[in-house]
Amino acid sequence: MADTYDVVVIGGGPGGYNCAIRAGQLGLKVACVEMRGTLGGTCLNVGCIPSKALLHASELYEAAQTDFAKMGIKIDKVGLDLPAMLAQKDEAVDGLTKGVEFLFKKNKVDYVIGKGRIAGKGQVVVTDAEGKETTLATKNIVIATGSEVTPLPGVEIDEERVVSSTGALSLKSVPKKLVLIGAGVIGLELGSVWRRLGAEVTVIEYLDRILPGMDGEVAKNAQRLLKKQGMDFKLGRKVTGVEKLKSKLKVSTEAASGGKEEILDADVVLVCIGRRPYTEGLGLETVGIEADKRGFIANDHFKTSAEGVWVVGDTTYGPMLAHKAEDEGVACAERIAGKAGHVNYDAIPGVVYTLPEIASVGATEEQLKEQGRKYKVGKFPFMANSRARTNHETDGFVKILADAETDEILGAHMIGKAAGEMIAEVVLAMEFKAASEDIARTCHAHPTLSEAVRQAAMGVEGWTMQM
Ligand SMILES: Cc1cc2nc3c(=O)[nH]c(=O)nc-3n(C[C@H](O)[C@H](O)[C@H](O)COP(=O)(O)OP(=O)(O)OC[C@H]3O[C@@H](n4cnc5c(N)ncnc54)[C@H](O)[C@@H]3O)c2cc1C
Repeated sequence: MADTYDVVVIGGGPGGYNCAIRAGQLGLKVACVEMRGTLGGTCLNVGCIPSKALLHASELYEAAQTDFAKMGIKIDKVGLDLPAMLAQKDEAVDGLTKGVEFLFKKNKVDYVIGKGRIAGKGQVVVTDAEGKETTLATKNIVIATGSEVTPLPGVEIDEERVVSSTGALSLKSVPKKLVLIGAGVIGLELGSVWRRLGAEVTVIEYLDRILPGMDGEVAKNAQRLLKKQGMDFKLGRKVTGVEKLKSKLKVSTEAASGGKEEILDADVVLVCIGRRPYTEGLGLETVGIEADKRGFIANDHFKTSAEGVWVVGDTTYGPMLAHKAEDEGVACAERIAGKAGHVNYDAIPGVVYTLPEIASVGATEEQLKEQGRKYKVGKFPFMANSRARTNHETDGFVKILADAETDEILGAHMIGKAAGEMIAEVVLAMEFKAASEDIARTCHAHPTLSEAVRQAAMGVEGWTMQM
């Protein structure tokens, strides 16, 4: 038996590492167990960070070919050095994962490498790569084991030709034809990367819309813009199988409701139908925790049903997002330390890093209608925003939803260049329970894209000033 800890966190992703660091800051004796070999979890290693590195690089690559000339910039020939593009992505990942290790040292978090397993109340057994076991005794255990790719029955992922998001971050060459199964955030982002680098991209989605859960009007707009960029959408269809031939893949599809089969050729198929909680071999049964049918562990302010066992991040309910996991990790550590850690689930932004970006926070119009809530809408198109016009980036709009009586902001949905940055203003406003008028009467620098947010807020009371 090794040391006795106040907290042992299992999983070193955004939920786990932020929980461990905050616990260290609060003076708790803390260890974080991670089996991957690097810290940062899905997010830093095979998620947010590498995908954004490729999105940024591929965006510049495409802009150099399509936009530079329009702005009077002449370049003879633009070429792709894929290994170099992948290397700069790996470099970003490497730097950031090492950064977390540094923060562990700074905040006195013991980094324990190996697979963690709960072995009864207050005990975590860690098995290292050589199979050696160490038992950590602890007052509190935090489950932060994250999620894994949801498999599609009948479609075997080999990470070479039939890939998950992980394989799609490291393809050795640009596929001629890429088929995406699933039109969610991850698929549209990675599909954008490979389309910009030259792939013909077809998206097959079971539902009759893309980006399920996002505001319908924004999703429709996004589909139109992505289609204009060259992505082909086959909505209301399901994939029934992928046959691997020597030279190509044959993707069988049929209408979601059943019907005539249609077969598509592909060089690479990306399965991106979602993620599911990962709790394999975690020993939940030793403390009497039962995950639900989908694998999620329920919580009450991060406490599970077992005393002294907590859960944060993708393994529990709520949006599977890094910043949600991070906020839960921090709040959980604060609760363990006897403080009042809290997460406001009504103000968690969601961003799709396509071009243009799509960002949202709070309720969608569909949700408000379902709740029977009376609301007002303010909208402003980037076409009428002077900075967007100047930069030739006029696609999209901002929409603000506010309570019809109190004017409290209930949601914001936007599509446009840098929407992912602009949403922060509305998230902050919502944290302060602001009214749309608060944003409408806040001075915004000119000329900036964020003036569109203000104009949309002005639109709630009908005093938008069009250009
Ligand atoms: C391609 C892609 C792009 C994404 N982009 C974004 C984005 O732009 N923005 C965003 O907010 N979210 C994004 N996400 C989602 C985001 O990565 C996750 O929501 C986030 O990583 C969840 O954090 P977590 O700490 O709960 O779990 P994870 O990050 O999954 O970390 C869990 C860690 O626990 C470890 N682990 C599991 N079991 C054990 C065990 N028994 N012992 C020891 N270690 C264990 C795993 O190895 C893993 O490192 C993306 C995901 C993907 C796949």
